[in-house]
Amino acid sequence: MTKRPVIGITALATRYIDPPHSPMYALNQRYVMAVEASGGAPLMLPPDLDETSMQAIFERLDGLVLSGGGDVDPAYYGESRHAALTEVNAERDRLELSFARQAVEADKPVMGICRGVQVLNVALGGSLVQDIPTQQPESLPHSFDGARVARDYTAHPVRIESGSLLREVMGVEQAGVNSWHHQSLKRVAASLMVVAQSPDGIIEAVEMPGRRFVIGVQWHPEWLYDRQPEMKRLFEALVQAAK
Ligand code: MN
Repeated sequence: MTKRPVIGITALATRYIDPPHSPMYALNQRYVMAVEASGGAPLMLPPDLDETSMQAIFERLDGLVLSGGGDVDPAYYGESRHAALTEVNAERDRLELSFARQAVEADKPVMGICRGVQVLNVALGGSLVQDIPTQQPESLPHSFDGARVARDYTAHPVRIESGSLLREVMGVEQAGVNSWHHQSLKRVAASLMVVAQSPDGIIEAVEMPGRRFVIGVQWHPEWLYDRQPEMKRLFEALVQAAK
């Protein structure tokens, strides 16, 4: 029997769900589906664990997905909060920044998705554009009204650097991607390399050379994996690297 690598997926704690006095953990099912369809055993990770639990769980993970979500506290990169900042969560920041650093140190395969690529960058010393529409108004639209636009809507293309791991994994020079982010990478951490950009110059993917699999993408491949084979290959490569 082949053992399936366990891929931890970070979740969020929410109070949106009724009744409001009963907080829950939440994770979009798409992340779980994409990991399992790619041969991994998905494990949902609550964000508000103590250090001892965090450590015990991290050691048992074969790979990690840093999922999408709200904004990282800009204090982590030395800025004050922009007015458009949303859904900052101290526990989630703490767990994900710690797991991101540890994954890189231990060469444990990690894929950051949307907020996840931002966490990866901040964890390694980078900073973020806190709000693209107000701070870089000449940019293409990178976020939409979720009530009117489908999550798999192709918002813009990305060009993928030749010679990169991302290019090798996805096997394409250009891809159409969805886009659900109002933030993006600003100062890129020294250990990361920009490997994909949209036509307006927004950083859409980074990777870390010299590691088995450290890739962050600003789009949401979990919504595209079942119709764009190059997106499925991202998850498959993560799982392979985790074996
Ligand atoms: Mn985008």
